Formats: sequence, structure tokens, C-alpha cells
Amino acid sequence: MSDTIVARATAAGEAAVAVVRLSGPDTRHILGRLFRPKFGAKSAAGNHLQPWRLYLGELINPEPDPARGQANDECLAVFMPAPRSYTGEDVGELHLHGGRAISERALELACELGARLAEPGEFTRRAYLAGRLDLAQAEAVCELVRSRTAAAARLAAAQLQGGLSRRIEALRQALADMVASAEAAIDFPEEEVELVAPQEEAAAIRRGPLRLVEELLAAGRAAEMVREGAQVTICGRPNVGKSTLLNALLGRERALTSPQPGTTRDFIEEALEVRGVPVRLIDTAGLREQAQGVEAAGVALAEAKLASCDLALAVLDASLPLAPEDAALARRVRAHPHLAVLNKADLPAQVSPEEARRLFPEAAALLSISALRGDGVDDLRARLASLLAPEALPEVAPGARHQDALRRARGSLERALEALEGGTGVEIYAAELRGALSALGEVCGQTATEEILERIFSRFCIGK
Ligand code: GDP
Repeated sequence: MSDTIVARATAAGEAAVAVVRLSGPDTRHILGRLFRPKFGAKSAAGNHLQPWRLYLGELINPEPDPARGQANDECLAVFMPAPRSYTGEDVGELHLHGGRAISERALELACELGARLAEPGEFTRRAYLAGRLDLAQAEAVCELVRSRTAAAARLAAAQLQGGLSRRIEALRQALADMVASAEAAIDFPEEEVELVAPQEEAAAIRRGPLRLVEELLAAGRAAEMVREGAQVTICGRPNVGKSTLLNALLGRERALTSPQPGTTRDFIEEALEVRGVPVRLIDTAGLREQAQGVEAAGVALAEAKLASCDLALAVLDASLPLAPEDAALARRVRAHPHLAVLNKADLPAQVSPEEARRLFPEAAALLSISALRGDGVDDLRARLASLLAPEALPEVAPGARHQDALRRARGSLERALEALEGGTGVEIYAAELRGALSALGEVCGQTATEEILERIFSRFCIGK
């Protein structure tokens, strides 16, 4: 029998409302002691709340007699009995006025009455243990809470509704059937229960489970961009207009621009959203060859940022002749996906688009813009969208943990194929199939260890 847990379900701090949530066998009792309804719901046994009804009342100090307890706050309360609640246990909620002090008082009172403060993710963990959610769905709850864009939230919502779970289960069912016939062939060799011809069996694995696993892995990679976002680095020598471009893309003044070369000593990171994909836009210090001191440190950072970015914007100043640093920049970005940006197009040109193109032959595009006046910035944004945002959202979005399990399942399936085609025996074949089945079982939780559960739920916020 589990104990009763309590936590603030809303973020701490000033807000209109703060929700304190209880789950566990003592919920009804605790709620009855610290909440006094204004109307109805009173009985000799204390305050008896009808399930799923929202009551107006007061948070009270329960001792010694609830009827005379001193009020702490006016609030709403609801009681949701097991098993039809989020956790599958008795759940209660108090909707208090927002603010730390009041909700902290409610937590304190609940603990005095026998509840314990919940661990991160403990409500969702209980929902999982009660079979209300499978593991992939429980993780989707966490993803949903963390989603920073509408696209990421849609992916998480689909997973919460069981999109990924259904596919994995279908896959596991198909594998379980294959394991059953392989085991029959092992157990009853004398009855000549044979596998269908190994070649046919192998073809069935390639057509079925292996292809599905590959598809899920591809969807996972596409979803990563949507979830994690893309990193875009703006680089170029000092004063070409990097900070001005950052501001233009953001549509507001943030990065400090200055007419003095080399003033952006550190890098500035800003977030924007391009067709649903969160983009971290990084303005690096000028990539100068002979930089020293603080600026040299900035340059090293710029190099590191460039190395890890998904796309680089290489900026040139069209109003000045090309400099050796521009050629150095071209060499640096060559190994990364990049766009060449010819800035200050509003000034008399010293660099032609042809010259710029020659310098950046592998750029995905060359764009002439005026970051200062905003000319061409929309085009640039559209280019970013087409390079970074997938055309369509994948239907399912296996996360990093699921991809790891899928990769292990793929390894097992490949070895199962080798056993089948190399004739090493049905035992090895069956063992590899079981390995794949077990790896896939981690996704929804059938074969998840305590350690896996611990890792997953510790990522949650408290109260979820
Ligand atoms: P950074 O060192 O590359 O970050 O360059 P800044 O963004 O600080 O810009 C350096 C100078 O160039 C500032 O005075 C900007 O106002 C100016 N500048 C930036 N973009 C443009 C542009 O498109 N046209 C013109 N005329 N000036 C620009």
C-alpha cells in the first residue's frame, strides 16, 4: 500500500492560482481536515466532498476541531476517487490563491496530517504503476510540459495519446509470433515442426519488423530537430553587421551593435521560432586572425560554436572590398551547411554577388540583404525555414531513450537474420528475436528496469 503524497502542481511564485495536489489512500481524510466547504458537504464524519465536484471553501488549520479552525485562504477543492483519477489513486486538489506562502502553508498542513512531499514525477510514476499510462506516454507528459513550440507540443500530445505505443506494440506482437514458431521448432524437432523456409522468414523480417524499426528511427531523427531545435551561428569579421542581423531576425533590439570593430566579445544566444522549429541563434565574436586577450577567447568560443551548429550564416560586408579574413571565414564554414549573406546592400557595392559566390561555392544560397533597413531579411527567414524545418511533422516521435532501444532491437534483428541465413541454428535465431522483443519492451515499459524508471521520472518536475 502506498503512502499519500502532496506537491504544488503549479510553478512556485506569484500567480493567479496555485494548485496543490494530493494522491494516495489518505487523500479524502486529509482534504476533509484542511478544507472547509462553505456550502453543503458537511457530515458528522467531517467534511465529505462529493467526487468530481468543485467546492468553494477555506483552507483551515485542522486542530483541534475543523469546524472552528482558523482560515488561511479562500480556495476551491475537488476530490477524485480511485481508480478514475490521474494516478489511479484517490486524488485531491486545492486551488489556492497564487503565491508561495499560501501554497506552502497548504503543503505544511497536508504533511502534518500524514502526507509526504512528492518526489519529482511521482504522480506520473504512480499513474504508470497503476497502468493508467505506459512508459512512453508517461514520458510524453514530461515532453508536453517542456515543449517550447506548438510543433513540439503536437508531437508530445500524439505520443501521450498512444501513437508510439501502438506502433511498438504491433511490432512486438509480430516478433512474439515469430519467437513462438521458432520455439516450437526448437521444442519439437522430432515432430518436424519446421520454420517456414529460412529465406522466406528472413524476407518477412526485412519487410516487417526491421523496416518498421528503421522507419521509427528516421521519425525520431526528424522529431529531434523539432524538439531540440536547431543551432544557427552567425559569423563574419567584425563590423560586417552580425549583431544588426541578429536583431533584424529577432525583430527587436537585443544584441548591442556598435560601429567599433570587435565589440561583440562574447557570443550572444537568442531563441526564435522558424516554422515551428525552435532556433538558437548565436552571434559570435569576430573571427579575427590576430585577435588577442579577451577577444582571442571569444574567437575560440566562436570556433566551438561553429563546429556544433546545424547551419552557419557567413556574413560579408558588401560596402567594403573583400578582406583576407573573409577568405579565412569561407575556409572555416566550408565543412558545415552554410548560407552566404552579403550585407549592407543599401550602401554602394564593393563586392559583387559573383565575387561572393566564388568565395562560397558550396553555400546553400547567397542572399543580398540590408540588416539595418531590413531588406531581404524575410527572404533569409524563409531560407532558414526551408533548410531547418521539416516539410511535415513525423507522426510519431521516438525520443533519445526510445531510439536507443530501437537501435538495440535493430542490432538483434540483424543478427537474427545472419543466424537465419548463415544457418547457425534456430536457437541463436530465437535468442536474437527475444533480444529484440526485450529491447522494444523498454519503450512502453514491459521490460523496463527500476534504473530506467528512476532515470525517466527524475527528469520530471515536482508535482507532475
Ligand atoms: P558586428 O560586429 O558584425 O556584430 O556588426 P554590427 O552589427 O555591430 O554592425 C557594425 C556597424 O555596421 C553598425 O554601425 C551597424 O549599424 C552597421 N550596419 C550593420 N548592418 C548594416 C546595413 O545593412 N547597412 C548599413 N548601412 N550599415 C549596417
